[in-house]
Amino acid sequence: MGLLIKNGYLIDPLTGREGKYDILIEGCKVVRIAKKIDKKADLIDAKGMLVLPGLIDMHCHLREPGREDEETIYTGSLSAASGGFTTICCMPNTSPPLDNKVAIRFVMDRARDAFCEVLPIGAITIGREGKELAPYGEMAEEGAVAFSDDGDCVMDSLVMRRALEYTKLYKRPIISHSEDKNLSRNGVMNEGAVSTKMGLAGIPSEAETVMVHRDISLSKMTGGLLHLAHLSVAESVEMVRDAKKSLKNLTCEVAIHHLFLTEEDVKGYNTNAKVSPPLRTKRDIGALVKGLKDGTIDCIVTDHAPHTEEEKAAGFEDAPFGMIGFETALSLAVELQQKGLTLMEIISFFTTGPARILHIERGCIDEGRQADIVIFDPAREWVYRKEDIRSKSKNSPFIGRKMKGKVIGTIYRGRVVFSLKG
Ligand SMILES: [Zn+2]
Ligand SMILES: [Zn+2]
Repeated sequence: MGLLIKNGYLIDPLTGREGKYDILIEGCKVVRIAKKIDKKADLIDAKGMLVLPGLIDMHCHLREPGREDEETIYTGSLSAASGGFTTICCMPNTSPPLDNKVAIRFVMDRARDAFCEVLPIGAITIGREGKELAPYGEMAEEGAVAFSDDGDCVMDSLVMRRALEYTKLYKRPIISHSEDKNLSRNGVMNEGAVSTKMGLAGIPSEAETVMVHRDISLSKMTGGLLHLAHLSVAESVEMVRDAKKSLKNLTCEVAIHHLFLTEEDVKGYNTNAKVSPPLRTKRDIGALVKGLKDGTIDCIVTDHAPHTEEEKAAGFEDAPFGMIGFETALSLAVELQQKGLTLMEIISFFTTGPARILHIERGCIDEGRQADIVIFDPAREWVYRKEDIRSKSKNSPFIGRKMKGKVIGTIYRGRVVFSLKG
């Protein structure tokens, strides 16, 4: 019978469509987009709503296999769908890690009953130990869309060189968690006046910039596809801006929390604000936003990293790094309008940006395309409450924050997978 979304305000970065349109879905596809469609179908009245392509998050942690007490592919995908994501890419730092075809197939199998598409990222090295290259060919064949040792940096530059060389063969990027482990050592937050005052070991900006510089150099040398994960430092953005003048094979991302929080949010020893890379400064936020504006930064990710309350209840030094992010990402992102970004641009960082990097046909609403769609109420005011969190873990420093704009419905492959009641 089909599904008809009427009276919504469509914003689609790939086709450039913006305005009031009706959208007809049949099966798993969008079959018609027009100013007015009258047809017998299940009706969704989207008056006053934004109708957006299903979002892509190319960087999250789902913890399965190994830490199902923190999150599973099922609960993580539910959390993602409720935040408007219809495609998410999960990092391989599970236990055991996703460093072979059987592990990739396991994720693909588990993802079949998920609320959104889950695309696994394979490890760069076996066991994520930074020594021996993992079998990229067989992982790619099973569905791995990229390779990363995220959570750890590949410290051996020769290993990184070889990994980048292989990207030319498999056409899948290496995603680098650029962090010089010798510089960050036992640091737990940004190194500066705040860390000194709090008596905590700091992670200097240079722990990131030294490795960003190395990775860019190796990408130039090899011609390999390099994607830099979660840039947090102003100087990193500058280096990428400069490198992109001559490099076509370099892309990068920013995590949503690095655009909204600073080292000040760590005050009170708030372990939910402990992330890797650490929250930096206002100056860094300014540079990251500028990087989005001028196209230096290609996409925004959540780096959704669930941890249990027991783990986060440890002292600041012992608590694990990471915060959850699916359910707040879009509501926060639309606030970037106040910093001069248009809605079309903001949506592109969650759709056309990651789709281009991963070479996937997602993140677009158009006739003939898979019907992955988000319905977003831009006027709805709400408070992010712990009891409403759908992720299995609740480690977010945004709990209690007032938000404006909320995902009220998510359609994945033509089916409503999430709808907000009330
Ligand atoms: Zn990372
Ligand atoms: Zn991560």
